[in-house]
Amino acid sequence: MRFVHGALTDVGRGRPANEDQYLVDPDAGLFAVADGMGGHRAGEVASATAIATLRQAFDAGSPLDEAIRDANAAVFAQAEANVDMRGMGTTLTAAVLVDGRIARLGHVGDSRAYLMRDGGVTQVTDDHSLVEQLVREGSLAPEDAVNHPQRAVITRALGIDPDVEVDLYDIDLRPGDRIVLCSDGLSNMVADEGIAAVLAAQRHPQQAAAALVEAALEAGGDDNVTVVVIDALGDVTAEASAASLALGAQRRVDEPTGEWVAFTEGEADEADEAEEAEETTTPEERQASAEPSPAPAAPHAGTEPTPAHRKARARRILAWVLPVILLLGAGVALVGWYARRTYYVGLHGDGVALYRGQPGGVLGWDPTVEEEGDLAASELTPADREGLAEGHRFSDRNDAVRFLERLERRYDGRGGSGSLTPTGASTSTTRGGR
Ligand code: MG
Repeated sequence: MRFVHGALTDVGRGRPANEDQYLVDPDAGLFAVADGMGGHRAGEVASATAIATLRQAFDAGSPLDEAIRDANAAVFAQAEANVDMRGMGTTLTAAVLVDGRIARLGHVGDSRAYLMRDGGVTQVTDDHSLVEQLVREGSLAPEDAVNHPQRAVITRALGIDPDVEVDLYDIDLRPGDRIVLCSDGLSNMVADEGIAAVLAAQRHPQQAAAALVEAALEAGGDDNVTVVVIDALGDVTAEASAASLALGAQRRVDEPTGEWVAFTEGEADEADEAEEAEETTTPEERQASAEPSPAPAAPHAGTEPTPAHRKARARRILAWVLPVILLLGAGVALVGWYARRTYYVGLHGDGVALYRGQPGGVLGWDPTVEEEGDLAASELTPADREGLAEGHRFSDRNDAVRFLERLERRYDGRGGSGSLTPTGASTSTTRGGR
């Protein structure tokens, strides 16, 4: 069978950020949708971590359920290690094409997989949500589930516990089958009949994904919405098989001792190019592509990536590297600003000086002398010397200058005694010498 795919994600109309992530890796035959949750944007971290770990584990030869449990462990460890990320989690619904004829689904959470066959659409996965559990147990009517206030409560997710139970489903594919993975941003906004109508109207998987996202947005777009569509097109002919070898689009999947699955991109090449460009906009692609994936051990010549693939890969790596460089630059600038924004009066060798910066410096930003004073450290009272050794800090340069002047005036005029503290403009008069 040949496979073509489409995918799209959208932040929606009610959320400040997109915590959904998707993965499409037709070479590996791996597809996934993850919907993250957690404060301080931890949801984005959860879904990105899950997708990246899934891909890594799968590339390393782990079976799908094991790869999903690895993803769970990675999200859990990150949440444990970082206070801001406590309680974060993510759904994960993944599909692997095994042997070119089976779609194996691995599933945790309330994202969904649908199968469209012979014009009918069925939900393959069970939602791990409170509402769906109540419906399954018979204590809630399906029609009351649709707008239930606790719709968002999920009963199983990655990152919550050290281990997680993964639901697995195998679908024996037939030519013409279409598999849809989606986040609840679609299924909560568009009823199953609506989803079926859109899928029936759209022949190309990319257009189908885009039309489903559009339908969710038109229905209000309350949540992030993500859709991945995979079409099984027909039997692999000898000719197409040869073509796939020439393309190098062949990859071992699932079991270390496993099978080979052949993909031909054929007439969908052009559409896939467009999809590839679009995929570079999703964070998980940036993250995932930055990690070296093991080369397929294809025993055939001609498995070099095409220039188009190399270009796409370079673009993806650039899309990942550039934001990191910009972030690092912003971090350095921020530390510099913090380190240099204050002034202080302190000891300078055997004298006293006005400095810019923080006493002792901050992460390599050392204070600099702005003005040397006329006082010698040896003239100072022990109290003043102690205070100056620590440094008297000011957010305004003029205040620091005035403090230094007052200090000098006091030692000039009265022969020096008492101490001076920088608590206000009137300090020198109220706390002068005896
Ligand atoms: Mg959601």
